[in-house]
Amino acid sequence: MLYIPNSSPIPFEEAQRLILSVIRPLPVITIPLSKALGYYLAETVRADHDVPMFDRSTVDGYALRAEDVINASASDPVKLKVLEEIPAGYLPQQKITQGTASRIMTGAPIPEGANAVVMVEKTENAMEDSESVLVYQSVKIGDAIAKKGQDVEEGKDVLTQGTLLGPIELGLLATFGIASVPVYAKPKVGILSTGSELLNVDEPIVPGKLRDSNGVMLAGQVSQAGGEPVYFGIAPDKVEELEKKMLEILQQVDILVTSGGVSMGEYDFLGKVFEKINAKVIFWKTLARPGMPVLCGVWQDKPIFALAGNPASSYVNAHLYVLPAIRYMSGSKDPLPKRVTVVCDEAIEGKQMLHTRFLRGLTYVSPTGELRVKISKKQASNVLSSFLESNCLVKVPGGKGFNAGEKVEVYLLGAVEELRQ
Ligand code: AMP
Ligand code: MG
Repeated sequence: MLYIPNSSPIPFEEAQRLILSVIRPLPVITIPLSKALGYYLAETVRADHDVPMFDRSTVDGYALRAEDVINASASDPVKLKVLEEIPAGYLPQQKITQGTASRIMTGAPIPEGANAVVMVEKTENAMEDSESVLVYQSVKIGDAIAKKGQDVEEGKDVLTQGTLLGPIELGLLATFGIASVPVYAKPKVGILSTGSELLNVDEPIVPGKLRDSNGVMLAGQVSQAGGEPVYFGIAPDKVEELEKKMLEILQQVDILVTSGGVSMGEYDFLGKVFEKINAKVIFWKTLARPGMPVLCGVWQDKPIFALAGNPASSYVNAHLYVLPAIRYMSGSKDPLPKRVTVVCDEAIEGKQMLHTRFLRGLTYVSPTGELRVKISKKQASNVLSSFLESNCLVKVPGGKGFNAGEKVEVYLLGAVEELRQ
């Protein structure tokens, strides 16, 4: 009889905690800013100058002294002498004094002596004299001026280590001249489908067999979480072949994900292979469904996730255990799946269940603006199609049921989750 330590089922939260305790972020690499989208920043970036760097105009208009136009109105405009024109990108040459103004464009520096800008729409060139302007509106001190440091103050942290770089973050890095960005490398994730019943996607169907749908599905999940999937095809249910293939893959990747072969059937060999390749078992089986028989271990610091074979089980296993590991190794400080609390449309049975269940559901905004969830009718672990009408997993803790209208916690999936990251 095969002895595997830590093989009694554990709560899924404990499984998540154990994984994160045995892995570390990958080494820091420096990459061009234009390639940095989706990476996690490896160093805190401090502002080495104010943004804006000088007081600047927020409109096209005239820079002036507010006190000079205090009585200006549409019926009684104030005439000011125009000293110069200041386009964006140029420095003012003239000081504004009583009775004068300078034409100024959006983004240009405010000339000395000016304390406000009036927008061009509230002015008119004096007909007889293009070197003067008629101002039809009074302004207050500071109007239409963006003060130095209004956006970011010198010396403040702009972005902290561990921040996920999205478009806004890239824009801020560009502002501070960070053309090369220190980020954590992204993990290469090997994907291997196991099972002698599996066919390649391009093979004709054969009675009793089915095509490998887990491979491409898991690769998609890995990509969405920021990992680099590498698909290694299908391995049959044979210990030696699995052992050889897995060792081969482990030399080339940071994480190995397999699916199938982790239950208690005659041909479920993954536990045996873990033993043969000297992988340290972290846990085998969790108190969560679908995907209860998931096996997780470490081989020379590289995590191996042997996921349950049924497609829905594989998907949920990857969401709960693999994707957090990918995010953590990529440098995320908040790697666990995103969750929200919503109101459940219907009652959920469950007081007699021991396991936590993750039910497919659709989170939606009700006509009154409330976030609610509808539970999918099809929950079997071999059914993938019901995910098409789902965007979350509803967590139903073991021994607990819900009445209609009660609050439940949902794990956001796919595109919805991406929106929140
Ligand atoms: P297993 O955990 O190996 O007993 O697999 C359970 C069931 O999941 C199998 O009977 C297959 O029907 C299905 N399955 C396993 N691997 C895959 C795969 N890569 N793609 C699609 N279905 C799979
Ligand atoms: Mg199998």
